[in-house]
Amino acid sequence: MLVMKETRKTVIGVDLDGVCADFYARMREIAAEWFECSPSDLPEEVSYGLSEWGITDKNQYESLHRFAVTQRELFKTMPMIPGARKYLRMLSDDGYRIRIITHRLFIHYFHASAVQQTVDWLDSHGIPYWDLCFMKEKEQVGADIYVEDTPDNVTQLRERGLQTICFANSTNRHIGSPRAATWREVYDIIRRSSAPGD
Ligand SMILES: [Mg+2]
Repeated sequence: MLVMKETRKTVIGVDLDGVCADFYARMREIAAEWFECSPSDLPEEVSYGLSEWGITDKNQYESLHRFAVTQRELFKTMPMIPGARKYLRMLSDDGYRIRIITHRLFIHYFHASAVQQTVDWLDSHGIPYWDLCFMKEKEQVGADIYVEDTPDNVTQLRERGLQTICFANSTNRHIGSPRAATWREVYDIIRRSSAPGD
């Protein structure tokens, strides 16, 4: 009898906004519409919460975000961060399991559209993945290595002992290594630190 040995693949937990999709670039265009100004009036260098654009509280942030998602199809219209397609495909071909993890279901009764925009975006950009998790508590999806940009998420995952690569942008300059400024660096860190399966 032929017995196939089951190998467990190393799971890469990949955040979307700010890691695969250029959230801040697209939000800058939409925010310029929202404020009726030119995008060049809004600094590219932002911190989490977008105070540099005049967003002063959580309600304002949520209003802008809701406008972006429901009226401008934010999740479908963000540009891809260069390298995401190429290096995720290489990781997948190397034998890692790509698990997309995103906290995008934060607008009540808008879930069908949020999910549809997300899968349309993933397919049209050729992003390979096996699993798609809409989760706020990212540590609960059980990935072996996380790629994440939001400072609090990186900190919380690392506090739980979970290996987390911080994908660099202006919101997370204060977060320590391991950091990756490009997808090529993400790929190299993963290849160095863990085998595709055991
Ligand atoms: Mg993110």
